[in-house]
Amino acid sequence: MRVGIISDIHGNVEALDAVMMELRDVDAIYCLGDVVGYGPNPNECCDIIRERKIPTVLGNHDAGAIGSLSLEWFNPPARIAAQWTADRLTARNRFFLQNLPLIRKTEHLCMVHGSLNDPERFGYIKSIWDARESFAEMGSDTLCFLGHTHIAEYFRQGSRLLQVDHLALPEGGRVAKNSDSFYIVNCGSVGQPRDGNPMAGFGIYDTDSSTIDLLRVEYPFRVTQSKMRDLGLPTSLQHRLEIGQ
Ligand code: ZN
Repeated sequence: MRVGIISDIHGNVEALDAVMMELRDVDAIYCLGDVVGYGPNPNECCDIIRERKIPTVLGNHDAGAIGSLSLEWFNPPARIAAQWTADRLTARNRFFLQNLPLIRKTEHLCMVHGSLNDPERFGYIKSIWDARESFAEMGSDTLCFLGHTHIAEYFRQGSRLLQVDHLALPEGGRVAKNSDSFYIVNCGSVGQPRDGNPMAGFGIYDTDSSTIDLLRVEYPFRVTQSKMRDLGLPTSLQHRLEIGQ
């Protein structure tokens, strides 16, 4: 089975469309949250995820847009975009976001937006020390997909050796899973990459070969930028799309 992994779409429907085209042949798709926030098309992105019944976890920007996370946690441009999003969400999409869980589990696999050790506070995994705290919560799960940092990378912990390896893959690459190790994989952000590569990030997990491909695809970010300009969304949020930061 091949599973598409998407995260941090952030209301960027041009990026989501490009990624969904790449994922047209997969058997399932999972979404690690932040469907909305920052971008100009929050409802269109929610519609795609909701109508295709893609299993999704709640992200901090989703929580901010439905009022379950205080916008005090957001920096000023993010706060402006979050309020803008909150004011425009349809009742149906608000209901959809309100019913997203913080964690999802399937067989030997778990999904969370930020970190497993503190899912409701949306902590960031920025180092092997942060990763260690989430590995400690994985139990018998050997693989955890998450998002939140918008950086394509993975962490691996050997089952006996408690050493944690880390590799960033901003240009994409393959993670070949060993059966005796635990993995935390971030396939990057669909709609607002921050690892220096402006192309939309996503992943494909092949459960038969136990590989995860971290992939990138071009999308027309200038279209997204001009929509944001027309809607009066902060210029810093427009600019970061073309530099991938
Ligand atoms: Zn995000």
